[in-house]
Amino acid sequence: MEKVIIVGAGLCGSLLAVNLASKGYEVHVYERRGDIRKAEFVGGRSINLALSARGIQALEMVDMGHLVKEQGIPMRGRMIHDIEGHEAFFPYSGRAEEYINSISRGGLNKALLLKASTFSNIRFFFDHQCEDVDFDQGHIWFINILTNERVQDKADVIFGTDGAGSAVRQAMMKHSNRIRFDFSQSFLTHGYKELSIPPTEDGGFRIDKGALHIWPRGSHMLIALPNLDGSFTVTLFQDFKGENGLDALDGDLDLARSYFKQYFADAYAHMPDFDQDFMTNPSSSLGTIKCYPWRMEDKSVLLGDAAHAIVPFYGQGMNASFEDVHVLNSIMEEGHGDWASILSAFETRRKPDADAIADLAVDNFYEMRDHSGDELFQKKVLLEKRLEKEMPDRYNSKYALVTFRKGIGYRQAMLRGRAQDAFLLDYCRHVSDINSIDLQTLVDQIEEQVTI
Ligand SMILES: Cc1cc2nc3c(=O)[nH]c(=O)nc-3n(C[C@H](O)[C@H](O)[C@H](O)COP(=O)(O)OP(=O)(O)OC[C@H]3O[C@@H](n4cnc5c(N)ncnc54)[C@H](O)[C@@H]3O)c2cc1C
Repeated sequence: MEKVIIVGAGLCGSLLAVNLASKGYEVHVYERRGDIRKAEFVGGRSINLALSARGIQALEMVDMGHLVKEQGIPMRGRMIHDIEGHEAFFPYSGRAEEYINSISRGGLNKALLLKASTFSNIRFFFDHQCEDVDFDQGHIWFINILTNERVQDKADVIFGTDGAGSAVRQAMMKHSNRIRFDFSQSFLTHGYKELSIPPTEDGGFRIDKGALHIWPRGSHMLIALPNLDGSFTVTLFQDFKGENGLDALDGDLDLARSYFKQYFADAYAHMPDFDQDFMTNPSSSLGTIKCYPWRMEDKSVLLGDAAHAIVPFYGQGMNASFEDVHVLNSIMEEGHGDWASILSAFETRRKPDADAIADLAVDNFYEMRDHSGDELFQKKVLLEKRLEKEMPDRYNSKYALVTFRKGIGYRQAMLRGRAQDAFLLDYCRHVSDINSIDLQTLVDQIEEQVTI
């Protein structure tokens, strides 16, 4: 039996482990953290993610599609909160069956690890941190964090699913000249801080649970996603620098309180644990990592954030990481003869899509931050919803192409979506009432002019 090693049992690594074990490989999984299968409450606070079609397709591939219903909360659109506390709901799609799901990161990771545990050909090594890799020999070294012991293992192929700070990628970089390794990392000037809205006393939701809530305020914004226990995970996205920047807020709780009262008063009213959350939870940075190649010949390959870390503004980092596993699986089922051919096909097919979603995610940061509160943008969104509702077979917004059309790659979705956006924004500038538009004529025009 061929043996593979997976470094990192986060979302991507645990899904990959299930997939490779089901194909009969001997799988060794090494993870720096402790064993979350044993944890009753995973990770303390509830941190959630938006799961959508591409991620769901990958879960279905390993018979885990049921998790969406069991653990997910449907979010059918964006609830925009203006500074006066008014709310306006904008559906994600004009098609009722298209929505995204808020799901617990820890709960999903634990469920995948439990599924992996059902295979006798998987062994787990928790509290083991990857230190280095010898790609020529297929050797890899870990430190057992609990005992400080150095552990060596060996496999036919080593999969690096160890996230944005990947140790496997760093080991590849030592061979930069040999494989002509390109690497770039770019940070946004903004960072994020996670806070919370707790459930009501009887376990209910304090705000609408069927939406992803956004408080857009020009250069900064707050978002909130629901959790099954009635709480919301709230995330502030703000510049590190400036009068109300994260650096200033972090050192001054009075300033943080008055900043929230000024800009997010309706949300702040639902945050009784604000002081504790704000002081305890760190402010973290946001960045994009691109690299290439993703493989070290036929010995090792990167997947998930290790290969392509992106900013979270399209809610696609996990979905893209899950889709990596889905694409790798399809390639393996095409009957390539050896690992060199499989891994080469994987990186060639996947890299353009990974670059596209990285760029789309940065674009969406500016769209959510600067435009989701603006009139022309909202007019265009409403017109797109009419188009999707009344012409469901003929129109998909950029958001729908990226989020719901799993049969179209991210790159194709990006090119078509951008061209449609440019067309419709221009169109909306010249229209006062979108309800009086003849949609048939409009969709003909779009099809004629947007040919991507
Ligand atoms: C604020 C925020 C919000 C997000 N929201 C969304 C969203 O709504 N939807 C979405 O699709 N995506 C979202 N993402 C992105 C998503 O979290 C990532 O894309 C996803 O976690 C990538 O999975 P991964 O398994 O590749 O990496 P990770 O989840 O980072 O897992 C890597 C694993 O490797 C382990 N590891 C690291 N180094 C080592 C080592 N040296 N040795 C052994 N093990 C190691 C880590 O402990 C971890 O378990 C968000 C990200 C952020 C920061």
